[in-house]
Amino acid sequence: MEYIDIHAHMVSRTTDDYRQMAMTGCVALTEPAFWPGWDRSSADGFEDYFRQITEFEPARAAQYGIRHYTWLCLNPKEGENRELAREVLRRIPRYLDRPNVLGIGEIGLNRVTRNELATFRDHVELALEHDQLIHIHTPHLEDKFKGTRVIVDALLEYDALDPGRVLIDHAEEHTLAMILDNGFWTGMTLYPQTKVSPERAIDMVERRGPERICVASACDWGPSVPVAIPEFILAMRRRGHGEDLIHRIVFDNAAEFLGQSPKFQLPRAREAFAPV
Ligand SMILES: [Zn+2]
Repeated sequence: MEYIDIHAHMVSRTTDDYRQMAMTGCVALTEPAFWPGWDRSSADGFEDYFRQITEFEPARAAQYGIRHYTWLCLNPKEGENRELAREVLRRIPRYLDRPNVLGIGEIGLNRVTRNELATFRDHVELALEHDQLIHIHTPHLEDKFKGTRVIVDALLEYDALDPGRVLIDHAEEHTLAMILDNGFWTGMTLYPQTKVSPERAIDMVERRGPERICVASACDWGPSVPVAIPEFILAMRRRGHGEDLIHRIVFDNAAEFLGQSPKFQLPRAREAFAPV
């Protein structure tokens, strides 16, 4: 079954991972800007990264017939550094017109500090100013509930913000309702250890229904599985769910949310393999 992975950090993955994803049905993915595992020393470091995710990665993905889209920001972890954040935010607009950029993300909170929240708001305002979609990271483990609450409350303060243009990612059982009840889209992260297993994700879909819910591998440089969505599809079938419902979650929902950007297009069979 064809699928879209809305969250994959391909800069950390090998070309073999693209191949595996393509062979298991991936036709498009989106790569949010995030923390590389160390703090960058300058805004120039971010610009190099923005070039990598707007130039090199789409070309690498195209070799396997996968459309690569991306989101730009200074990630929540480095958001603590307000001076660096201001400088990076000043430079982001010149990349927003690039053909694979869908919006601002993954912004959010990490340790839920005052500085992180200020950087988060700056990004939301940048997105509103430039009419961009927004992709949001929520903190993990003990900070999950509090962080998601603070993010939702901060977003609701913006009258100009349409919640239908915002996806709040890494939802779990205790945060799903506050995200969806306020009109936002959400993502469930299929991780081998932390975050959500396919079975937990299916439980949530069964209780809540499929509306405005996407799934993602969120594969990166840590323990993660680039073919987590095919595993979710298999688990859904094992549970007895029909193909229409599965397709809606792994493809239609993502296409509907991302399709709000005029840049998002799905590959057509004959032109899938663009020359690189
Ligand atoms: Zn991520």
